[in-house]
Parts: sequence; structure tokens; C-alpha cells
Amino acid sequence: MYTDLFNALLHGKNHRGNPILNALLYVFCPAAAYWWQVGAKVIVPDDIVWLAMTDFARGESIKDVLESYGVDEPTNQKLKQYYAAVNEWRNRSHDPAPELSSMFPMQAHFAPPANFGNADVYQHFGGQWRYLFEYVRVWSILIYQWQDAIAPNASDDGDIEFKQLDVALSAPGVKRPAYFPVWAWEQKVGLSKRTHFGLLVNFPGVSRNPQVIRNKIQGLQDQLRFALVQRSARTDNELWSSPPDVYALDRVTGASTPFDVVVNTSDTLKMVLGLSEAARTPPYYPLGALQAPEKCGVCCFRKECYQGGNTLTDFALDKLFEKKTGFSPVDEDA
Ligand code: SF4
Repeated sequence: MYTDLFNALLHGKNHRGNPILNALLYVFCPAAAYWWQVGAKVIVPDDIVWLAMTDFARGESIKDVLESYGVDEPTNQKLKQYYAAVNEWRNRSHDPAPELSSMFPMQAHFAPPANFGNADVYQHFGGQWRYLFEYVRVWSILIYQWQDAIAPNASDDGDIEFKQLDVALSAPGVKRPAYFPVWAWEQKVGLSKRTHFGLLVNFPGVSRNPQVIRNKIQGLQDQLRFALVQRSARTDNELWSSPPDVYALDRVTGASTPFDVVVNTSDTLKMVLGLSEAARTPPYYPLGALQAPEKCGVCCFRKECYQGGNTLTDFALDKLFEKKTGFSPVDEDA
């Protein structure tokens, strides 16, 4: 859900203190905004959905890409069987992603034997055989499912292209933009081009209990990120041919829905400077942990808060509740 934001923190043109990124981090978790501002290392967690989309966008065939990761022919055959089984289950069921139900014979039909020597291959996919299958599911099913929903009239003869774009985020009172990676479908419509943005929602990877997660948080749209991308500009100073539309991409089921505006977009953007200021003001409550500990599992600052353990350390809490910020109250970008 947050890989785009964490990658934006590492973007060469963004620097620590950018009010837009500060505000986005603050909404994610005030403690994360603190760690970023005091110079903590950004460690982007493995995100198998993001990896599949990145590889897909390069335009190579899945067969070639899997080969480049060292996937051998027997495993390739298993992956093909998995793809066929997922399609069969989807054709038989009206559920959003029946292949994620506990009835789907994932373990029974697709788990490798205990002595299966593919560990090196799995390292490319977060270290687990299941993530290799998830990679294939995203590449060969979810991306097409999203595209069919977002641009149902697109033909297969090259009039639509899937790519990652950097966009420039801006907000009232903020001098310098924040550069932000987004997934985009660029569609030719007559002589013009239409851009559809897709923002991933839900948590990355394969949950141990995807059914529960799916029902709980499907469709969650964080309003600030969506509003900023909706109003974003191209980075080459050209104008969009037509205003882009923004969709939420459910990274678990493959569903997608248009941006559901709950807070008026202009009003949301007016909050950026205030949110950024709040992000500079102690204490920095670890709201991610308090509200949804799953966030900590996918947070680029988990190491700072947990130091390898399972609970927030006293050291981290002392830092977060210090009265002094340790960084300049002057906003360099505003
Ligand atoms: S690990 Fe959890 S509490 Fe710490 S910054 Fe990240 S989301 Fe917040």
C-alpha cells in the first residue's frame, strides 16, 4: 500500500523535509514522519505486487523474466498449472478472488517438496515459494483485470500501454513539488491520449489469512495520496491531454474502483502545510502501531521502532516522546 510513498522518499529529486511527503508520512504514521526527518535509513520492504508490476511494465514476456530469475522448466510447468487453476476457480465462482480461499488447493497442489532446491530463486520473490506464485497471479491476472475495468474499450492492438510514471505533486503554499511514482495506463483515444492512474490499496504480499484482510480493508482509499495524484502534473512541464482519472487497485483481489472522494480534493490539498507542520511537532505518536499493527509490518522504518523485536522498543518510544525535535522548525520547501 505504501511502496509508492517509500520509493518517493528515496527519489533523487526529493529531499528530507519536503512538506508534501512529510504530510503523507504523517497521515501514514506520525512516528514515520519523525524518523524520516531525523535522517533514519529508508528500507523499502519487499512488495511482490510492486515487483510484478515493475517487471510487467518493462514489456518483456513473463517466460523470459521468470527465466532470468532462474525459474526452471518443472517450476514453470507448476506455475502454468497454477494459472490455469486460478482461472478455473474464477470462472466457477462469483467471489472476488476465490483462489485466495482456504478451499483452494494451494498447499496440496503447488507447494514444492521439502527438499526442493529452489531457495535461490525464491530469494528474488521475498524468500517464499508462495510469493513466486503471487508474482505470477499479479502479472498474468490482476494487471489485466485492473486494465479491463479501467479501460474496458481498449483493444489489444497496442492502443494502451502500462507504465510507471513519475508525477509532480503540489499543494497550496508549497514551493517545490514532490516527485512520486505512479502506475499508469496510457490509452490512445483518436489523436489524443488518455491517462488512467492506478494507486495500490491494501497490504502487500500474501496474507496468512487473506480472506480476513480482504473483507476488512478492501477499497481503503487514503484521501491525501489520491487527491495529490489526482491534481498532479507531468514532470516534463507539458500538460496532460485530458485530466487523468485515478483508480484504487486492490492488490489482493484485483478489483478496482474510481477515486471515491470523501474530502473535497481542494480542501484536502489545503491541509498539506498544516499536516507537515504537525509532522514537525512532538510528540510523534506511533499511530501506525496503535491503529493497525499491519502497517508496521510493511513500514520502511520498522527497524527504528522495533529494533528486530516484536514490540516497539523503549528507546524508540523515548525518542518519539522527546520534547525537542532535533531538526530545524524552518520548512525548507514551503
Ligand atoms: S513501524 Fe509502525 S509505529 Fe513505527 S513508524 Fe512504522 S508504522 Fe509507525
